Parts: sequence; structure tokens; C-alpha cells
Amino acid sequence: MPFYSFMISKRPIDIPCTLQERKVLEQIALAARELGVPCYLIGGFVRDKLLNRRTKDMDVVCVGDGIALAHKVAAHFDNVPVSFFKTYGTAQVKWNELEIEFVGARKESYRRDSRNPEVVPGTLQDDQLRRDFTINALAISLNETDYGTLIDPFNGLADLEAKIIRTPLEPAQTFIDDPLRMMRAIRFASQLQFTITDEAFTAIQDNAERIKIISQERITDEFNKIMLSPVPSVGLDLLYKAGLLKIILPQMIDLVGVEMVEGKGHKDNFYHTLQVVDNIARNTKDLWLRWAALLHDIGKPATKRFEQGHGWTFHGHDAVGGKMVPRIFAKMKLPQHESMRLVKKLVELHLRPISVTKENITDSAIRRLLFDAGDDIEGLMMLCEADITSKNRVKVKRYLENFELVRQRLKEVEEIDRIRNWQPPVTGEMIMETFGLKPSRVVGDLKNAIREAILDGEIPNTYEAAFAFLLEKAQALDLTPVK
Ligand code: ATP
Repeated sequence: MPFYSFMISKRPIDIPCTLQERKVLEQIALAARELGVPCYLIGGFVRDKLLNRRTKDMDVVCVGDGIALAHKVAAHFDNVPVSFFKTYGTAQVKWNELEIEFVGARKESYRRDSRNPEVVPGTLQDDQLRRDFTINALAISLNETDYGTLIDPFNGLADLEAKIIRTPLEPAQTFIDDPLRMMRAIRFASQLQFTITDEAFTAIQDNAERIKIISQERITDEFNKIMLSPVPSVGLDLLYKAGLLKIILPQMIDLVGVEMVEGKGHKDNFYHTLQVVDNIARNTKDLWLRWAALLHDIGKPATKRFEQGHGWTFHGHDAVGGKMVPRIFAKMKLPQHESMRLVKKLVELHLRPISVTKENITDSAIRRLLFDAGDDIEGLMMLCEADITSKNRVKVKRYLENFELVRQRLKEVEEIDRIRNWQPPVTGEMIMETFGLKPSRVVGDLKNAIREAILDGEIPNTYEAAFAFLLEKAQALDLTPVK
């Protein structure tokens, strides 16, 4: 990279900073001056500010010791603690909501046989060259002589304006050096709605296999950022077309395509799924609801059948899909508890509100739905609405009206019966005490019988009715109360 290009692209720039951010920047500049090290704002903060996006992470690079600069800055901020990593030469200072990262400018060189680069101290130019994309290599001087000047060696500002993701170096080299950058390129494309240059995208396709050397945690972190982007299908489709999805989440690839038998096809479940994720993303920023949308039909390939005279069926794909969720979460190193249970439950239940609308919407069907979904009923209804991807407007209108009716009935039944988070009024403990029983199957059967009778509307949801029902059931089993 000839150095003169750094000179021609230097220009003063104004970025939209809050008063507090300006004060912080002035203190950093002062601290750097005291240490006699040139320092610059760089990377994500500059990019996001120029895009007018909210950001709380400030990246600062100095030509010198980043950790020493962090300590000096901390001294200006009431001696706030500094977290630092000596091996990496990086340090972090938190000031109010801002997280300020400090690093010494460095030069990186990668060797084919090692995943980690050799790092040596370098100039600002060296440091900009090691950045992944032109839009992430923009720097702003915090030095006295040219404070506020943009240093833009690779025309990152033009790429930012044209919404382009381009690598400063040769694309293949960039992605071979650090394959996580393939995920980052697609993540930025999805998050910012930018386009990856053809050369860069081809290089990603050529090197997709190398993603295997990256830790699952880092891959999943980028994947979740794609899931949280405004239109996640942009990133998901790019992952598919790049050949990365088949490595990261191969179950999704089984959803791709349409099979025809006797002139009858089914919908392409992959693109249907992407549409459902986009639909739910319009209504919620909740990562796990978006994951539920991503996996809602994951059981379809395993249950796909062609029934003569009838067409394609996917019987039981809800239950099969639900069973697949824990394995997928484990492989992706996603949380195994609450979030996984929510996604599994929504995948298992995603057909229930639809089936409720197909029958007469009976109180007992509604009570069962409320009982099974509990507090996740809202998320479930959101998923079901997102699942409507028909292009037929009349159908969509009818489905939405049906769901509105279900929502209304859910509200009415909940007001009367309070089934959400409900436990039957007679507990297992009470049953054991009444008949002098130890924990055993019969206790579970009696408890279930009471619950079913209440959900079916056979008996009211009161202690008296439930206890009378229990005595009746127990008598048929030759059980008598102990007192
Ligand atoms: P976000 O904050 O949304 O994750 P970011 O670009 O700020 O985006 P960070 O991971 O905080 O991401 O990285 C800060 C900067 O470090 C980036 O803007 C980029 O200049 C550089 N960087 C991060 N990861 C890489 C990488 N894998 N290869 C090269 N440069 C990178």
C-alpha cells in the first residue's frame, strides 16, 4: 500500500458525538499527549458514528503502549479500574455507559500453518492494513496537530456511502488469514444492509471450509448477530449461498428445495423459513423467538411423505422438530436451559393455534393451549402469525382473522379460569396424605385425571369439585381415605 494514499484521503470530519463523548475524547487526547503517543479513534466506533448508529464501544489505537494509555486515561476518570490483557496488549476502561478499548498499533502477519498471526508493534498504517473491511479501517486523529481528521487509506468513506463491504487486502488472503471474517462480512451485510463485493463473496465461497478452524462460540456469536439484524434472511441466505450454512447448521440445508410427484410440489421450506424469521423479526427483537422461527419446521425433512391422491404431508414434524432442538443448541453452543426450553416448546406447539382454529374453538381446546404454553402464549401466537407466508391475500386475511379470534378467546378463558401458570387445586401431596400413599404411579394418574377433567370443563376449577372428583376416582380403584 503506497503511503501517499494516506495523505490524499486525510480530511477533517465531523461525527455526531454527544457532549459526554466529546469530553471523553478530549481526555483521551490529553492523556495521549501527556504520554507523547499519537492516538486515533478507529474501527466500529468511527463506522457507526458516520452511519449515525448507536454505539457504546469506542476503539482507540495508539502508536505505543495501549495498556499504558488506558491507565493514563483511567487516571483522568477518577481512577476507574482498567482491565487489560498483557499477552494481547489490549486494555479496557468503562466510563458511564461507554466501553473504551485501547490497543497499541500493530502489524500482523499470518502463516498458513498457524491460526494466530505473528504480531509486532507497527504504525497506524500497519494497523489499518490488518483491519478486515475498508469501512472498519477508518481512523480519526485525536492528535493536537490534526485533531478530528479522518484517515481513510482505502476509501472506506466512499464504501460506507455506497453501502459496500470490501476488504482492504486481496479478499482470498483476508479470509484465509482469519476465516471468522467470512462470518463478519455476512453479518455486516445483514446488520447494515450492505452489499459484499463480488470478489469478496467469491473468495468466501472458495474458502468456506476454512470456517471449521474457528471456535463454535465465535461462529455462534456472529450467527446470533445475523439473527438479530433487521432482516435476518439477508444474512441467512448469504450464509447459504456462501456454503457456510451447510457447515454451521446443516439441518437447515435439508429444508432447501421443492420435490415434485404426480405434478404436485410442496413449498420450499428453506425460503419459507427465512420469510417466517423476517416476519417475526418485524415484531420482536427477542433472539429466542427468532430462533424458534428459524427452527419451527426443522422436523419437516425427516417427516416428509407423499401420500397417493393426497399430496405431501409432514405429519409429526412439530414433535420431531422439538426433539431436534436440544441437539442443535448443543452443537451451536447455545444456552441449554431456559432459552432452549422456550425454543423447543414453541417448535413443538407451533401448529396448535392453527389446529384450534380448524375445530370449533372450544373452551377446553383454549384451556389446553393456555396450560401447555403458559407464559409463552404470546410468543407462540407471534410465531404462528409469522408462519403465515401465503401470497394469497384472501387466505392471509382469513388466517389473521382466525388468530384474532383465538387471541380473543384466550383472553376470555384466561380471565375466567386463570390457566396460565396454573396448578390444579388438588396436589400430589394432598392425594398422598388423603390415601396414605407413597409417591407412586397411582398418585400421578389421579393428579392427571383431575387436571384433565378441569381442562376439559368436566368439573369446575375449584378445590371442592376437584376433591369430590378425586374421591370418586379413588373409589373406583378401591382406595379409601385414611381418616
Ligand atoms: P460490533 O461492535 O458490531 O461487533 P465492530 O466492528 O466494532 O462491530 P469489534 O469486534 O468490536 O467489531 O471490532 C472492532 C474493530 O476491530 C473492527 O471495526 C475492525 O476494525 C477490527 N476487527 C475486529 N475483528 C476483526 C477481524 N477478525 N479481522 C480484522 N479486523 C477485525
